[in-house]
Amino acid sequence: EPYVVMKDIHKTYPDGTVALRGVDLEIYPGEILGLLGENGAGKSTLMKILSGFIKPTKGEIYVEGKRVKFSSSRDALARGIAMVHQVFTLVPNMTALENIILGTGKGSEGVLQALTPLDFDFGRRQIEELTSKLGLKIPLDTPVESLSLGERQRIEIIKALSRGTKVLILDEPTTFLTPMEVSELFNFVKRFKEQGGSVVFITHKIKEALEITDRIVVLRKGAVAGQLKTGDATPEK
Ligand code: ADP
Ligand code: ADP
Repeated sequence: EPYVVMKDIHKTYPDGTVALRGVDLEIYPGEILGLLGENGAGKSTLMKILSGFIKPTKGEIYVEGKRVKFSSSRDALARGIAMVHQVFTLVPNMTALENIILGTGKGSEGVLQALTPLDFDFGRRQIEELTSKLGLKIPLDTPVESLSLGERQRIEIIKALSRGTKVLILDEPTTFLTPMEVSELFNFVKRFKEQGGSVVFITHKIKEALEITDRIVVLRKGAVAGQLKTGDATPEK
C-alpha cells in the first residue's frame, strides 16, 4: 500500500507558466524515491503541492487511502509530510534546540518566555533520542548562525522529524554540502528508511540519485517521462 498517492496533478502558476501537466505519483513506506529532472521540470512544484506550500490547479492527493486537501503546509505536516527547502528557515539568533522546539519563531519571543526549563529539558531528551536513533549529531546549544550549512540542514531535518514526519522531502539537499556531509546525509537517510520512513530526494544529479534511491521517477516538462527501479525497497506493482 502506498503511503501517498498523487493523481493527475496539474499546476499553472498565476503568471501563466504551466509547471505540471497531469502527474501521477506514489510514495511507499520505507522507500527512497528519487525525483529526477532538469531545472524547470516541475520537481519542486510537485513536492510543494504535496507538502501543502502551494495548491494544485487540478488533481487529487490521497494519504493512507484517504483523500486530503491541504490548505496549508501545517495541514501536510500534521499528516506526516514535511519538506526541507533549499532555503533555510531557521531563526539565526536562536539555538538549534530553540529552533526545533519553537518552530517558525513567529512570536517566538513570547512563546520562549512562556516555556519553562522543564519543557526544554523534555524537548532536549526527545531530540537527543531522535538524533542518536538516526545517527545525526547536532550541537543543540549554539546559535544556528554560527553553524555550517550542513549542520543547519540537519537541524531543519530534525525539526521536521520531531513532528512525526513519515515522508521527508529533501529539495536538492546536497547543493551546499561537503563530500563528507553528503555521505553523512546519505547514511542518515538510509537509517530513516530502515525505520519505515519514506524519503523523496529531489535532484538533477543522476549519479547521486542512483547511489541513494530505491526508485527514480523522471520528470520532463511537467510530466512523468519514465521510471527506474534502482533498489529493493519498493514493492513491484
Ligand atoms: P524544478 O524543481 O524541476 O527545477 P520547478 O518546479 O521549480 O522545477 O519549476 C517548474 C516550472 O515552473 C519552471 O518553468 C519554473 O520557472 C516555473 N515556476 C516555479 N515557481 C514559479 C512561480 N512561483 N511562478 C511562476 N513560475 C514558476
Ligand atoms: P509553528 O509554525 O507555530 O511554530 P510548529 O511548532 O508545529 O508550528 O512548527 C512547525 C514548523 O515546521 C514551523 O517552523 C514551520 O515553518 C514548519 N513547517 C510547517 N509545515 C511544514 C511542512 N509541510 N514541511 C516542513 N516544515 C513545515
